[in-house]
Amino acid sequence: MNLNLYIKGKWHTPTNGQNREIVNPANGEVIFHTVDGNKDDVQAAIQAARSSFDQRDWPEMTSAQRSRLLMEVADRIEKQLDTLAELEMLDNGKPLHEAKIDVQDAADCFRYYASIIRKSNGKTFNPAPNLETVVVREPIGVCGLIVPWNFPLLMGVWKIAAALAAGNTIVLKPSEVTPITAVKLFEIFADTGFPAGVVNLVMGEGKIVGNELAISHDVDMVSFTGGTETVRQIMKAASGNLKKVSLELGGKSPNIIFADTDIELAVDYALYGIYYGAGQICSAASRILVEESIYDAFVDRFVARASKITVGPGNNPDTEMGPLVSEEHMQKVLDYIRIGQEEGARLACGGNRLRNTGLSAGYFVEPTAFIDVEQNMRIVQEEVFGPVVTIQKFTDETEAIELANGTRYGLAGAVFTNDGNRAWRVIKKIKAGITWINTYHENYYEAPWGGYKESGIGRSLSETGLDEFSELKQININLQPDMINWFRE
Ligand code: NDP
Repeated sequence: MNLNLYIKGKWHTPTNGQNREIVNPANGEVIFHTVDGNKDDVQAAIQAARSSFDQRDWPEMTSAQRSRLLMEVADRIEKQLDTLAELEMLDNGKPLHEAKIDVQDAADCFRYYASIIRKSNGKTFNPAPNLETVVVREPIGVCGLIVPWNFPLLMGVWKIAAALAAGNTIVLKPSEVTPITAVKLFEIFADTGFPAGVVNLVMGEGKIVGNELAISHDVDMVSFTGGTETVRQIMKAASGNLKKVSLELGGKSPNIIFADTDIELAVDYALYGIYYGAGQICSAASRILVEESIYDAFVDRFVARASKITVGPGNNPDTEMGPLVSEEHMQKVLDYIRIGQEEGARLACGGNRLRNTGLSAGYFVEPTAFIDVEQNMRIVQEEVFGPVVTIQKFTDETEAIELANGTRYGLAGAVFTNDGNRAWRVIKKIKAGITWINTYHENYYEAPWGGYKESGIGRSLSETGLDEFSELKQININLQPDMINWFRE
């Protein structure tokens, strides 16, 4: 497999790049080698995207042609679903069945954006008798897309599909930890016949490749998904030409469970909310808030089921939860578990790296839950991004809302109750962009995805996600030009 950079329609080997080992997190074995791009490579990719955009061959392609190409990418992704899912599993560690869902979603995302660009996207109105105002959307230009490791293909595709559909050219920087499916996607682009320079791929370190995208005056927009701390550096770097930034960041999302709900159902969703993806999901329900009267029963049932989750490698069909993405990230998660205990919280289950036969070389951590937690503890306030949840008690609706909103994040949140009025009341007061009533993690391309507060700026997906990659222009047309004589002759 070709693991090179893709610049101006050609595969390209970085000359002075650092070699990188890509590791299978299920067993620590090296599965691929890549070579990091350096500053010159990023510059070449940016210039390719710049001249392609300025020549207008992509932005001015008819929407029908653009849509056909994007549809073709979707078909080709689907044809390679098994291969792509296998690679995603090897690289990220997720169970194969989850990887297959991601790849199917990636194909569907291209189809979604390919279809909505065939709809009209402007507005007209008459602000004065002889004045016609037309508002149009135009592509922004060169978009730098910086992607994390938790959904390596899908997070890239959310950005790529929308940016291309809107008529932009792109430079993609995947996570250095999980670049494999991005390379496969660019093989698909190469076979689909995009004009040279429209799509470009540069692998490498965030502080070099990502930073260059953020700093370059030839990049018009940066769209980033990742950690809140990284973004502070990106925003500083992006301030040079005041480029647009669109940010999907972390979360510490509350899952509020009232006593009138069915405990079995609430436990079922709470497990899914936190342990799906081994908790490495920005919208993970990492704080469970339970009404006092059912707290003990809920914790008992939650712990009983969490302790039964089958943790293992993604290629085992029995596996329900895979490893963490890297040794470094596992260490971060284990550090948080230690910090939680030092802060005085009590482990209700889990808390350890798994060393069972066959798992000892991988980065497996037990499904973990903390009780006896206080709102100001770091494990309640900070994003752990692993299979670690805190379970807090509340006495009434007011306290539930106060605890739910009591972090710097505002990405997602859920409420479980059989009282319809209460469900609405509570959800309306939750400061988060993605919310659920009696469910969790449901997500469709038709709805905008993004957060309040420090969870992000802007939205992905939906028509709003397409608009994010465009500029608005008003065109005012005078239907009866006449002298205005603002100044005397
Ligand atoms: P980062 O935020 O560091 O990584 C996300 C992407 O940004 C990667 O492609 C990374 O490159 C790149 N990047 C890193 N530094 C810079 C920079 N200075 N300029 C431009 N791009 C940069 O995530 P981490 O992997 O370090 O994870 C840290 C924490 O972030 C996690 O523990 C979790 O809390 C959160 N996170 C949230 C995600 C989400 O979906 N909201 C996804 C991933 C992480 P590279 O890593 O290749 O060097």
